[in-house]
Amino acid sequence: MFSYRHAFHAGNHGDVLKHMVLIATLRHLMLKPGTLTMVDTHAGAGLYRLDSDFTDKGGEATHGVVRLFEVLRPAAGQAPESTPVLDDYLDLVAGFNPDGALRVYPGSPFVMQHLMRHDARDRLKLFELHPTDGKSLSSNVAQLEAGRSVVVVRQDGFEGLKPLLPPPADAQGSRRALVLMDPSYELKSDYGKVSACIQDAVKRFATGTYVVWYPVIPRTEAHDLPRKLRGLAQRAGRGWLNATLAIGHPPLAPNERPGLTASGMFVINPPHTLAEGLKASLPRLVDILGRGRGQGHTLEHGSA
Ligand code: SAM
Repeated sequence: MFSYRHAFHAGNHGDVLKHMVLIATLRHLMLKPGTLTMVDTHAGAGLYRLDSDFTDKGGEATHGVVRLFEVLRPAAGQAPESTPVLDDYLDLVAGFNPDGALRVYPGSPFVMQHLMRHDARDRLKLFELHPTDGKSLSSNVAQLEAGRSVVVVRQDGFEGLKPLLPPPADAQGSRRALVLMDPSYELKSDYGKVSACIQDAVKRFATGTYVVWYPVIPRTEAHDLPRKLRGLAQRAGRGWLNATLAIGHPPLAPNERPGLTASGMFVINPPHTLAEGLKASLPRLVDILGRGRGQGHTLEHGSA
């Protein structure tokens, strides 16, 4: 079960979509003053080197964040037009690479930690089961000296989420939470666990914002997952948003497989600004990252 290591995939097109949507969602939630409880049920190692053996000098990131930087943040010459949501994502990644060379990629724990507000007493809980990645995450987080505001737990994130919802009330009596659910889907059972866990979470805390990444692959369970999430959001009377990004692939040799070419983000209770921000940014991502056959994007949403 532990063959998946996110380091091989860090900064790929799936991470670009996931982290861009996550940042845009958090930016809006953080405009309100109340304490925000954040949970990352499948956290990974937290920080990744883009020049390590894992990533093989960029690896999958060359068709993701590295390509975006080449086009939108060129070392010389004028950059073509970007979008505010895309720029916000690139600025955050650039902040982890102060000397200008793209060497470090922040995973979701560091994206969230970077945006946390200390005056609002935001909290971040990170679940990671892999022994090696769990250790890396703990030592990466320890360097932040964030005290009790960021907690790493070596526990099943699906199970660990339950007692955290509803989140505690802050001094003003407000309860707010964002949950990112981003399993590796290495096991077929992850698909069913995601929908069951989100259904349970919405029952426990209906106004939380739930953000789920999923691969777009020819597998029944993967195809059904966004449909199930939409159904449960609608039955609970909650707003939802579903965005997909497909980079497609160039012509393939016989027996050559393209790898993962598309993924999606499903958000329950999305901020009302999210759809508008993505409407401009998704086509821009396709322009820059698109590789040919199958490239494109979709954006659907429904209100509460
Ligand atoms: N969210 C991370 C990011 O965006 O940077 C990437 C996470 S990666 C896709 C999924 C992680 O979940 C892997 O590191 C894997 O070891 C871990 N994992 C797998 N099953 C888990 C479980 N039941 N509970 C917690 N972590 C799990």
